[in-house]
Amino acid sequence: MSESHITGSLGSGESEASTEGPKCYCDLRAKSTIAFYDENFGRRFWGCVKFKDGGHCNYFAWRDPKMCSFGRRVIRQLRVMHAQSLGEQSAWESNERELRHQTEVIVAMTEQHRAKIINMSKQHRIEIENLNVQNRAKIDAMISQHRHEIEVERKVSDIKISGYRAALAFCLFLIFGILASHIFSTGLCTPSKLMLAA
Ligand SMILES: [Zn+2]
Repeated sequence: MSESHITGSLGSGESEASTEGPKCYCDLRAKSTIAFYDENFGRRFWGCVKFKDGGHCNYFAWRDPKMCSFGRRVIRQLRVMHAQSLGEQSAWESNERELRHQTEVIVAMTEQHRAKIINMSKQHRIEIENLNVQNRAKIDAMISQHRHEIEVERKVSDIKISGYRAALAFCLFLIFGILASHIFSTGLCTPSKLMLAA
């Protein structure tokens, strides 16, 4: 088995560390690798651990016996299924990452909206409080103005009533004066007669 044949035919170069493998020409534990080419698909072999790094010793030995065609076909199918499931897993992980990101975005937006609502609510409360204070001041001013107007009207009314009373008293005085002078002038009643009657 030539080295070029192996390197040119290896798939993903799946390999595993071994503490039991044979030693290569460098006197190091050989590494177990799986070959993926037609005749030896899925068959493991031992190789030098320095194979990929360069400066290796060209050590090579099959670890598994040669497989029948049915076994190779089964391993090939398993490998395809494995690749598919890896792809699906990757897609699922990608979806999960996307969903997690979207969830984080939604949570952040919700937080922002909640903060905005709380802020707006505070602002509205302050505005309502200010309006209440302004309205209360306006109402107090109106009440004070009306009270003042009522007071002025009451004073004016009092003055008018006093005037009417004075006019009425003057009229009554005049009427009685005229009536008395008329009675005394006709001689029906004189001050002496009045004194006698008393
Ligand atoms: Zn070696």
